[in-house]
Amino acid sequence: MPASQLITELQSFGIRLADPRAGAPSRRGGAGPSDHKAVTIDGRTVMVPVHTASAYESPYTASRPDVRGLSVVERDGVAVGRIAFPRQPRFHALQTLDGIPYSKIAVLHGADVLATTVLQTCIRYQSRARTCQFCSIGQSLAAGRTIARKTPEQLAEVARAAVLLDGVKHMVMTTGTPNATDRGAAILCESAFAVKQAVDLPIQAQCEPPDDDAWFRRMKAAGVDALGMHLEAVTPEVRARIMPGKASVPLERYFSAFEASVAVFGRGQVSTYILAGLGDGRDAILGISEKLIAMGVYPFVVPFVPISGTPLEDHPAPSPGFMRDLLAPLGAMLRAANLRSADIKAGCGKCGACSSLSAYGG
Ligand code: SF4
Repeated sequence: MPASQLITELQSFGIRLADPRAGAPSRRGGAGPSDHKAVTIDGRTVMVPVHTASAYESPYTASRPDVRGLSVVERDGVAVGRIAFPRQPRFHALQTLDGIPYSKIAVLHGADVLATTVLQTCIRYQSRARTCQFCSIGQSLAAGRTIARKTPEQLAEVARAAVLLDGVKHMVMTTGTPNATDRGAAILCESAFAVKQAVDLPIQAQCEPPDDDAWFRRMKAAGVDALGMHLEAVTPEVRARIMPGKASVPLERYFSAFEASVAVFGRGQVSTYILAGLGDGRDAILGISEKLIAMGVYPFVVPFVPISGTPLEDHPAPSPGFMRDLLAPLGAMLRAANLRSADIKAGCGKCGACSSLSAYGG
């Protein structure tokens, strides 16, 4: 099976592992996509669901890795490809002087990304009715796998170690939304500033559009190289149903914020995350992507992963066919506009591990 097809299939169905301990630890809970494990297919490291309900029933299985670390992927007993598992990062084994494991401050994502959720609480997560239905930001905190607030000093310490010990190439800083004004931009500024003082590491910050466009200049001045403001869903009905709290920030505000932030960070350095499979149709996602690309915003479209313990845990993941029909034309649109993931300085679009978009040329 061609690598691009295998990636799309595994990201939709998930995979059953003969040895769940193989490779780097899987992500459970947290902000954004979760319940994944990093696997390398044909040289490309991608995140594949392993802890979701659908992954437990996936037709795909991965054998115990051999001495070279290679594992055979079978579908219904027929070998269809090989995968490898990235090794455990060295910095995960360290801890701060006051005894906090580095892995509770930031973790390795994909092949070479350091990822952190600076603030693990969110005004949108107070009630199940208002929370984003796909999000599990509170679960990893409740399970003790992370700490609520990572200080700038802690982030700088871990970033330095991750660069020196594991050669990470860029950093993603996301945050729960702390208020309805700067929406996290202020703590992202102080965090980026501290990391940049400690180590030369490109940083993507991720937050909701702040109330004042001046925050874009402040973030850039603090050391943020690229910005993510994530739409997640694109049509008003799906936004209201899937993320009733966050949908209170209208699409018009996202678009005015995209325009203002592209002027600060540059074409292709602002991106948005769109979750396919939550109800938005192919045409709706491609239509808004066309608008975003024309503005210089990179639309990173990923298959929705139903995370255990969230209100959407039983929602089906999108089919591989739906993803192919979406990502093939999107990849062509990105190529035609010369908006390339490789040119993004930092962040999810550059990492690409949560989608097979780059396999389609995006
Ligand atoms: S695409 Fe973003 S969320 Fe996914 S593994 Fe890469 S950095 Fe993490």
